[in-house]
Amino acid sequence: MNLSKDETGKTRLMIRIASHRGGTLEYGDSTPRGFAATAAMPLEEVEFDVHPTADGAIIVHHDPTLEGTTDRMGAIAALTLAEVKAATIHYSAGGHPLTLIELCALYASSRVDFRCEIKPGADGLAYPGFVPKVIDLLARHGLLERTTFSSFLLASLDDLAAATDRPRLWLVSPPVLKQVGVHGVIELCRAHGVPEIGVHIDTADATLAATVQAAGIDFGCWAAHTPAQIDKALALGVKVFTTDRPTLAIARRIAFRQKEITA
Ligand code: FE
Repeated sequence: MNLSKDETGKTRLMIRIASHRGGTLEYGDSTPRGFAATAAMPLEEVEFDVHPTADGAIIVHHDPTLEGTTDRMGAIAALTLAEVKAATIHYSAGGHPLTLIELCALYASSRVDFRCEIKPGADGLAYPGFVPKVIDLLARHGLLERTTFSSFLLASLDDLAAATDRPRLWLVSPPVLKQVGVHGVIELCRAHGVPEIGVHIDTADATLAATVQAAGIDFGCWAAHTPAQIDKALALGVKVFTTDRPTLAIARRIAFRQKEITA
């Protein structure tokens, strides 16, 4: 439970906002300007995804390949750092993919914490030996103690647990939630020692949140991009939600708090 003092000095539940990929719908997908803007925002987390290059660098990018969101092609893991850096991200005002080292430098003096998603490669499988390298880099650049990790892959969450005691959460996709159900999800959390999950906002409801929380597992949401989705996350009282529209989410959270105060 995240409690904080509100504008009136009253202690209230703090619903955390995570700027997804640096605010994709406001700044482009995983762009330098989006990450720079997020670093100065009154929110709690910046969400980003990481991939290794062929020559050992770590890149902050959503897809395992470049073609979806840049003017270049290829799998990041098969390219050199120089080749990835040559890509220009669409809708980025000319920005190129950041390295994780560059992202650490951007956030060194920011109050916004890291939410680092461990992504699979283009084959859908975890990159072998990748997690300890990410953790080592974050530790060397002073950001590990400000990082929460996330992944859709239980294998990557296991790798994280073996390498760090930093918080980690399981991103439960709609098909997985549908297939195993809430009780299956809770069982898997227990089997893997996972203390928190995030579900797609459209699959969240009060019963699901209460069932998960009653099992001692923290509950959050992802992909809250529209005003209705953001307001739903706020009304559910989730621990944290990710959004492609961080500026909008901040405004909605202020309005939500004002309504609570005057209610
Ligand atoms: Fe992500």
